[in-house]
Amino acid sequence: MIATRSGSGPSIGEGRRASARSGSRMAWSLAWELSEVRWAVLAAGLFAVGSVFTAVGASAWATVSVLVAAGLAGGWAPALEGVQAFRDRRLDVDLLMVVAAIVAFAIGQEFDGALLIVIFSTSGALESFATSRTAASVRSLLDLAPDEATRVGAHGGEARVAAAELLVGDRVLVRPGERIPADGTVVDGSSEVDQASITGEAVPAFKSMGDEVFAGTVVGTGALWIGVSRPASESMVARIAALVDEASETKANTQLFVERIEQRYSIAVVIATLALFLVPLAFGHDLRATLLRAMTFMIVASPCAVVLATMPPLLSAIANAGRHGVLVKSSVVMERLATVTVVAFDKTGTLTRGTPRVSAIYSVSPLDADQVLTAAARAEHPSEHPVARAIVAAALDAGIATAGGTQFSSTAGWGVTSRIGDQMITVSNPSVLGTLTQRTPADLLDRITELEAEGATTVVVTIDGSAVGVIGLSDEPRGDARHAVERLTALTSTPPVLLSGDNANAAGRLGRSAGISDVRAALSPVDKVDEVRRMQAAGEHVLFIGDGVNDAPAMATADVSIAMGQTGADLAIDTADAITIRDELTPITALVGIAFRARRYVTANLIIAGTIITALVIWNLAGHLPLPLGVAGHEGSTVIVGLNGLRLLRRSAWH
Ligand code: ADP
Ligand code: MG
Repeated sequence: MIATRSGSGPSIGEGRRASARSGSRMAWSLAWELSEVRWAVLAAGLFAVGSVFTAVGASAWATVSVLVAAGLAGGWAPALEGVQAFRDRRLDVDLLMVVAAIVAFAIGQEFDGALLIVIFSTSGALESFATSRTAASVRSLLDLAPDEATRVGAHGGEARVAAAELLVGDRVLVRPGERIPADGTVVDGSSEVDQASITGEAVPAFKSMGDEVFAGTVVGTGALWIGVSRPASESMVARIAALVDEASETKANTQLFVERIEQRYSIAVVIATLALFLVPLAFGHDLRATLLRAMTFMIVASPCAVVLATMPPLLSAIANAGRHGVLVKSSVVMERLATVTVVAFDKTGTLTRGTPRVSAIYSVSPLDADQVLTAAARAEHPSEHPVARAIVAAALDAGIATAGGTQFSSTAGWGVTSRIGDQMITVSNPSVLGTLTQRTPADLLDRITELEAEGATTVVVTIDGSAVGVIGLSDEPRGDARHAVERLTALTSTPPVLLSGDNANAAGRLGRSAGISDVRAALSPVDKVDEVRRMQAAGEHVLFIGDGVNDAPAMATADVSIAMGQTGADLAIDTADAITIRDELTPITALVGIAFRARRYVTANLIIAGTIITALVIWNLAGHLPLPLGVAGHEGSTVIVGLNGLRLLRRSAWH
């Protein structure tokens, strides 16, 4: 009977407040803060007293009044809600339970009526607790961000200020062992930082000048001076909390389906109950026995366990993923992940680290290599593409100024155009050569072929419409790429495919090193969409994993998508259905794994619930099912189904 009580369960928001107040206090005190739990305990206590009275043969009125008190303590809240739902023209399953209990009391079965209410309110309390636990386990993150920070003034003076007041650009000092108060970049000092709270990574990361750090993570033995890059309300922890909030408010499709059926089913149960009562009565059967049997039917036929089968496994999986640095935007996403049949990877920034290095610069014009690099770096300066960052980095290494040009524009999957002085410069993939008016120098084509044969990514630099040089870049595959490909192949039973905008040689070489044989290269962002559509037309459910602006259209087209959060462009992160904050592929395989498990749990739950309902209904109709046994069987299956889903909260469920 538990999940229908959506209105009374603590909303996740309340759960957050409760957890914020309780901090690291024990689960019990967290539970005790929920009013359902307190009333359920009171009802159970009174019921225990009533049972003792019954056993020792205490006076009837004393026994009955204690049992009635137990019924009132456990039943008033669900009754109130049931009536409210009824006023909104919804038949709440809660109401059926309350009516059954009232009837039991009315016909002198006080013990059974009270038992029903006690078990019923206990399972309700259990659900409230589970919901707030799920939320609290991710929400406890928020408590990690410290309330105060040490702000360092322009002249080195220090002041303690509230973390919420920090502004972008402020400089804060975090001493050894302290928590970092805001997301930002290290501007001085170095230290190990324990980021487990954000990324789930157990091994501390070494941070020094220029590295990004997150609010709520803990500085090790060094001290860090940090330039604040985001206000507290937009920090990674705040965003995680907001996402979990949103995710828990969305209902999974299975749940929506169950709820649609639930209404009609409940009405059918009421009609059947009335028939089971009135028909035998018309044939002169005993009133009490007939009523009892009809009530038992109503209880055991109620779909409480079915209603509770879906959300707990999905929400537990989302919470577990959140703890491991993977943000899932809704429970529908979890459901979709569980039906993926093929995974499509982007290359640069996804299968590779996304930090390519310039490996060769050739000039095919009077300019020297440094001048080619200068032009390219100035044009690429504003771009966030990994290729652009590599070119700018190479220029900085060579001590070349990279101040940007004007009229910058970038085309996803192709390259950039920029005006520098009176020259138009483009840096782009070699497809530009087909569009140039000037004849392509023969040695340029040779250089490109040479570089691509080595597996390098090549970009061509043009000035005012003529090719002046070519830059080769090489990128390393992520260390866990091969392992991730193997895991995903095993999970989906289809080998992943690689969809890359890069040249066939670079993409093919990288695919081989990661264990992907189906490599589709030289794809524009639109081509990537077409490839995804083609797979879908063949009946596949496609998971697209990418990082770039060029991947966003394919992400939106795929059945479900995941973005690499650390290297990823904002557009990709906004478009994706899930984001991994850890700069690795392994959490993605774990996410797909837990999604598959969640689906198995949902199916198992539905089977358990359906079987028990069917068995009890048959027993009730064909034989004599005692009311207490019916109550115990029905509520027992509800609790089992609820707890089954919560198993996915355990850390061990992640791997
Ligand atoms: P991938 O699909 O492998 O992640 P992209 O679609 O982002 O690659 O890019 C495809 C190709 O387009 C790159 O290999 C590169 O040749 C070119 N390109 C994209 N963006 C840029 C840029 N900012 N500067 C230069 N070349 C670029
Ligand atoms: Mg990419």
